[in-house]
This record gives sequence, structure tokens and C-alpha cells, in this order.
Amino acid sequence: MVKVGLTGGIGSGKTTVSRIFNVLGIPVFDADYEAKTIMETDLELVGRVQETFGEESYTDGILNRPYLAKIVFNNPTKLSVLNSLVHPATIDAANRWMARQTTPYVIKEAALMFESGSASNVDYVIGVYAPHDLRVRRVMQRDNVDSEQVLIRMSRQISEVIKMKLCDFVVVNDDQQLLIPQVLQLHHKLMKIGEEQ
Ligand code: ATP
Repeated sequence: MVKVGLTGGIGSGKTTVSRIFNVLGIPVFDADYEAKTIMETDLELVGRVQETFGEESYTDGILNRPYLAKIVFNNPTKLSVLNSLVHPATIDAANRWMARQTTPYVIKEAALMFESGSASNVDYVIGVYAPHDLRVRRVMQRDNVDSEQVLIRMSRQISEVIKMKLCDFVVVNDDQQLLIPQVLQLHHKLMKIGEEQ
């Protein structure tokens, strides 16, 4: 089975593209969602987070997000310590999930594909690209936030240009009409690669 990563900046359309693959019958692992889940269900990870950031990190087994956010916000060292606990556990969860799938290829969607080390764990990476201003407008509308808040979130991610250069395939998502044909073309290509394996 071919393992395919899917990444892109905030508002590029990762989730939208993932949904199209899913409609085509391809299973999708949403790494950002799964990471949030295992922070409460993977007891080894829970233990490590408590050891590192204190017992207050959880209340009755529920992650104390405001407490942790306060610790890692504006502290890149602490954030990278937290990531070094969560990212490998998420990669393990993705590997266990992938082992259960039976399609010629599967998709793993992750915003931080390159930053988290996930890229080395997949065979190909698809980048979803949309122009900066369009991404800002989409997120403002989707999340009902102002442009400043979107720009702060964007500034924490590596540049789109660098990210897209690291990808094997790029889907340009600046026009609704052209999105589905691009995904269909990629789907056929990946099915062929998967079936030949
Ligand atoms: P994030 O990293 O913030 O989760 P994302 O990359 O997953 O974002 P989406 O949530 O798929 O991005 O898209 C952002 C918003 O833009 C959504 O509201 C989505 O419906 C809209 N959108 C995405 N692609 C298109 C498109 N081609 N035409 C119109 N709207 C779109």
C-alpha cells in the first residue's frame, strides 16, 4: 500500500481536498484531529505530558488545554518539547491505522507534515496550494476571525513556497472548478502506483 501525505498552509484547502479523496473511496487519517484525541486516550503519552508539564495538564483525564496553551504560547522551546512527545505518538497511531487499510493507497492529512517528521513516514507528499490573500479571506470567513488573527497563525508555519518545493505533487486550489479534475487526475495516478506495487 502506498502512503500519501497531504499538507498545505492554513486555509489552503487540505480538508476540502481530503474530503474529495474520501468520496473517491480513499481512507484519510486526519493527523491534527488524531493528535488531539490521543492526548487523552494514549495513556503512555498522557503520563509523559504530566511528567513534563505537571499534573495540572489534565483534570479527571481531560486535557487542560488552556493551561498547556499558556505554557507553550510564545515559548518555542516548551512548544517543541510538547511536539516531541505528541508527534511520534501520532506517527505510531497513523502507522497502526495504515496497517489496517486495504485500498491501493491511503492519505494522511497533516498541517505540519514536514515540521513533525511525518514526511519521512510516507511515500509521497501532496501539497495543497492557494495564494496568501485567498487563504486569509477563507479562514476569516470560516472561523469568523479578523485578518490579524489569521496572519499570526500563518506566521507560525513554514513558508508555502518552501513547503510546496518539498512536495511530490501540488494541487492548486484557487478555483473551485479546477479542483476536482486535479484531484481525480492524482487519484488515477496514485491508484496505478498502488496497484503496481
Ligand atoms: P486549516 O489548516 O485551517 O484546517 P485547510 O487547509 O484544511 O485549513 P479548508 O478548511 O479545507 O482548509 O478550507 C478553508 C476554507 O476555504 C473552508 O471554509 C473551505 O470550505 C473553503 N474552501 C476551500 N477550498 C475552496 C475552493 N476551492 N473554493 C471555495 N472555497 C473553498
